Amino acid sequence: MARRDFYEVLGVSRNASDKEIKQAYRKLARKHHPDVNPGDGDAEERFKQISEAYHVLSDREKRKVYDQFGRQWQQATQGGPGRTYTWTGNVEFGDFARQFGGSFSDFFDEFFGGVHGGPRTASRSEGPRRGQDIDSEITVSFREAVLGGTKEFSVGITDTCPQCGGEGGESIPCSACGGSGVTQAQRGIFNLGTPCPQCGGTGTQRSSQCEKCHGSGETTRSRRIKVKIPSGVDTGKKIRVKAEGALGIKGGPNGDLILTVNVEPDEFFERRGNDLYIEVPITVAEAALGGEITVPTINGKAKLKIPAGTSSGQTLRMRGLGAPRVSGSGKGDQYVRVMVTVPKKLTRKQRELITELAKTLDQAPRERIRAAKRRR
Ligand SMILES: [Zn+2]
Ligand SMILES: [Zn+2]
Repeated sequence: MARRDFYEVLGVSRNASDKEIKQAYRKLARKHHPDVNPGDGDAEERFKQISEAYHVLSDREKRKVYDQFGRQWQQATQGGPGRTYTWTGNVEFGDFARQFGGSFSDFFDEFFGGVHGGPRTASRSEGPRRGQDIDSEITVSFREAVLGGTKEFSVGITDTCPQCGGEGGESIPCSACGGSGVTQAQRGIFNLGTPCPQCGGTGTQRSSQCEKCHGSGETTRSRRIKVKIPSGVDTGKKIRVKAEGALGIKGGPNGDLILTVNVEPDEFFERRGNDLYIEVPITVAEAALGGEITVPTINGKAKLKIPAGTSSGQTLRMRGLGAPRVSGSGKGDQYVRVMVTVPKKLTRKQRELITELAKTLDQAPRERIRAAKRRR
């Protein structure tokens, strides 16, 4: 097709303002856009001419050169006789994108063979990727948490489908918008803020569904994991298991499995930091006379000396019998809170003895409370 004068192409006078050129271009672009004229063989050529004319006339420098040299402007700027200006989608796209928000990239790529060379699919352009890290939980018994050890358990892992790379199937340009992400009608009026309702603006649609993942792009598997529980671990702590997360994509490394520890409460023991707490009942006689009793510890039974005259609720320390410190060496302590238990029923003999005892107990245990009350 013969090249026409750029001013003629845009239908403006030689002294048209920038604004007039822009307005004329917009009007013509709307009318001659190839997608608005499907089946019109000349649409592309017309649109190219319009775009080329605008590309030159909207640029002050280029326009000046064009005005001076007319149609030979390209030779003038590039210095070589016989060179013809070749319209490129890339250059024009920049202007287009600036004005209309860049929504035409796919269209231009597809139509004029632009930078990406065709409709894009994520799987085609991306290389190896690391698999996702998978967050999961691990529940350990109180004892396992304190002493550490190895725990084997099953965990569900969701991978990016290895067959389709997470695409869910093959993609082709959207039939409603031809891959541009906006429909013909929307494009016709240049209402580019609204995405194509069929593809949601992605410009692609499924042509086939992946057999392996049925289109979801993900596959799940159950994995048997053996994990080392560090001794002294506590609820909320995280354990990272290298490369046991989601599978890497296209030869990329696997992600990690990140386990959040949940420690089951124990029936008797409580833990605060590295120290363990336990309540142990003692008899009235053990409290009064003292003695050695056997108490549970996390490592089994141990002897504890009750000093004579121990009151109920008093706490005794068993040094080094707590939880090992996760970082650093050493262990916490075990604290034993002794609780004096009094028999609900007494034999006649016991009653007599305690009555005798009572006569000898002339101490006043509530004296301090009485004194405090008087002061108030
Ligand atoms: Zn679409
Ligand atoms: Zn798949």
